[in-house]
Amino acid sequence: MERLWAPWRMKYITSITSEKPKECIFCRKPSEGKDEENFIVYRGPNCFIMLNIFPYNTGHLLIAPYSHKPSLMDLTEEELLGLMKCTSLGLRLLTEALKPDGFNVGINIGRFAGAGVEDHIHVHVVPRWAGDTNFMTVVSGTKVLPELLKDTYSRLKEALAKLTQP
Ligand SMILES: [Zn+2]
Repeated sequence: MERLWAPWRMKYITSITSEKPKECIFCRKPSEGKDEENFIVYRGPNCFIMLNIFPYNTGHLLIAPYSHKPSLMDLTEEELLGLMKCTSLGLRLLTEALKPDGFNVGINIGRFAGAGVEDHIHVHVVPRWAGDTNFMTVVSGTKVLPELLKDTYSRLKEALAKLTQP
């Protein structure tokens, strides 16, 4: 994953190293009721799926429980199941919408393991394509990213409608 070229992450990296108090995006975003604006793709009973606005790759999903808990060890059985079901759904949505060749699925627990938001557990799902750069719109700056996110979001919502229709 380190080899992916993701210059827009610089804004994220500089934001987490600055001194301002950190808010919890996994608590705030689902509570705002602005799912489209917040790129929340799916809400389950106890977990939700959203697009990472500082993605490693197109379609980078973040999956988290609604409850503010730092580790898998803190989750209830229902939350553990919900988290895994949402992860599975995320893989299905990406497969349907973006046809990746593979995925990286992972959890960073604790700041020193690389967790950006260390107090609220979340699963990363990063779709991968053979040669990655072929799929990725060549990013010459951070300007194109919002459009890319909107496009990815609508593709995932379409996939969700398709996969959940009776
Ligand atoms: Zn939280």
